[in-house]
Amino acid sequence: MEKLTVTEKALIDSATEIIKLNFDRKNLNHTVGAAVRYTNGNVYSGVNVSSIHEACAEVIAIGNAISCGERDFECIVAIGRDNSDKVYSPCGNCRQFILEYAPNCHVIVETEAGIKKSRITSLVPYAYHRPE
Ligand SMILES: [Zn+2]
Repeated sequence: MEKLTVTEKALIDSATEIIKLNFDRKNLNHTVGAAVRYTNGNVYSGVNVSSIHEACAEVIAIGNAISCGERDFECIVAIGRDNSDKVYSPCGNCRQFILEYAPNCHVIVETEAGIKKSRITSLVPYAYHRPE
């Protein structure tokens, strides 16, 4: 686990901002915002969407960035609006998703020692890898 840089703190602000703008528990269940930063400095964000199935905010943010031609992302964070803008650790599905798209990516998580960042590979030990 590593301490956050100013840039990573700004990424938390981006995720907080997108969920503040779009929070809607009652009608659309938008409760989590995510922001992902690319090595070129570009930041993309998204909120969770749900119907019969749900897509996490991290997946929406990454999909937004990939749709804009981005490929090389370095850090991602998700913020839940219900708990005072708390950092949410990615779910198991998102961890696998991040690992497959960006094995060198950092993820901002909340730990017993506060908000830190970790490499995605540390969050998915013994990960599944697609056969070649
Ligand atoms: Zn997820």
